[in-house]
Amino acid sequence: MMTEPTKYLLDENAIPAAWYNLQADLPSPPPPVLHPGTLQPVGPDDLAPLFPMALIGQEVSTEREIEIPAPVRDAYRAWRPTPLYRARRLEQALDTPARIYYKYEGVSPTGSHKPNTAVAQAFYNKEAGVARLATETGAGQWGSSLAYAAALFGLEVKVYMVRVSFDQKPYRKAMMETYGATCIASPSEETNAGRAVLAEHPDSTGSLGIAIGEAVEDAATREDTKYSLGSVLNHVLMHQSVIGREALAQFELANDYPDIIVGCTGGGSNFSGIAFPFIGEKLRGGRDVRVVAVEPAACPSLTRGRYAYDFGDTANLTPLVKMHTLGSAFVPSGFHAGGLRYHGMAPLVSHCVELDLVEPTAYTQIECFEAGVLFSRAESIIPAPEANHAVKGAVVEALRCKEEGVSRAILFNLCGHGHFDMQAYTDYFAGNLAVEHYDESEVAMALAGLPAVA
Ligand SMILES: *Cc1c(COP(=O)(O)O)cnc(C)c1O
Repeated sequence: MMTEPTKYLLDENAIPAAWYNLQADLPSPPPPVLHPGTLQPVGPDDLAPLFPMALIGQEVSTEREIEIPAPVRDAYRAWRPTPLYRARRLEQALDTPARIYYKYEGVSPTGSHKPNTAVAQAFYNKEAGVARLATETGAGQWGSSLAYAAALFGLEVKVYMVRVSFDQKPYRKAMMETYGATCIASPSEETNAGRAVLAEHPDSTGSLGIAIGEAVEDAATREDTKYSLGSVLNHVLMHQSVIGREALAQFELANDYPDIIVGCTGGGSNFSGIAFPFIGEKLRGGRDVRVVAVEPAACPSLTRGRYAYDFGDTANLTPLVKMHTLGSAFVPSGFHAGGLRYHGMAPLVSHCVELDLVEPTAYTQIECFEAGVLFSRAESIIPAPEANHAVKGAVVEALRCKEEGVSRAILFNLCGHGHFDMQAYTDYFAGNLAVEHYDESEVAMALAGLPAVA
């Protein structure tokens, strides 16, 4: 008897030869990045203390395709191409006519999509003669991914890890140390940015904005060190395009095409990785696709933030970028999807929302864990708490198909597994997860502090 396939696999030769750059196909360019002092667009020289020139070039490139260097493609072979699954058992559990697919990025060495850019960034820094990288990490996925990539290319790494996750996820620190990196809790006593926060809030649980400020300061004040960011920036989003490019090829194998794409958004990189290659097809006259971005109700930059120029960090050291933001002074509550606790959103994702290419939605963590547990029991893989937001978004769309009696193809990005996050599941089962909504008055205060840009 013929059985229907549950996964679509590509061989290593099908790893994309180039990254896809959405900037080539957008009907209008995103607003420029501004220097915080002069409020003029930044030039390459302004960014040179922080990034190697190759990455600065990618940041502003409007080329459609940028070739993936051979050493990076070779590193990708360790886990790419990643599988595309058809979630047949989830479809049955939901009794939906929808065809649900998910791209699984949890097969990477560190269990998420993050190595797709970590390997590229480590490569370009090594090529530029950099000896050491400073970075921040939320839940620890980025820190462990950069530690892994730096070990591949022989670089030192210092990771500033958001305090709440540092305490909740000790194994992530152990993983970074295993790969040879140093990891400390942020805010720390080691930088001016960290000391300033601790002076005012000695019990600060930290935030990505604070940790970014510490890592940027570290890199800016040391000759041998550059800064590395795991999300938000254009070049990071572009490196993640291998996800969507592979998915396009896998949908050809499946003889299908997504009607709806769903991803979770923290800084926007895994979402962009799966969605931008499909949005590019649409912008070049190809098939239409609805694209849904799911964010946590406790940190809803896209659905409740303001589209404005803001700093990327709390210490206000970074250039100004136009994005959906809750204000760089906003410190989100300590909910479990640590990777989604960022006050802003990638400028390119924000721009896509303004252009109506992307629909944002927000769900609470309890709703997302409920969906994640349903998914685990049907599909076997236990998603990261961040990925549960994408699962929730896909389930909502599948149930809508059932209500309307139509079969649509839904693709979502299962951006990572939850093996380091089982405490979050324990808390969920014990009924200890709060329904966290963000604090309106704190956001109002943080937004009142936005930099004045005409
Ligand atoms: C870091 C991370 C996120 C959030 O970052 P994005 O740039 O929005 O993708 C989401 N999921 C996982 C598993 C992560 O590691």
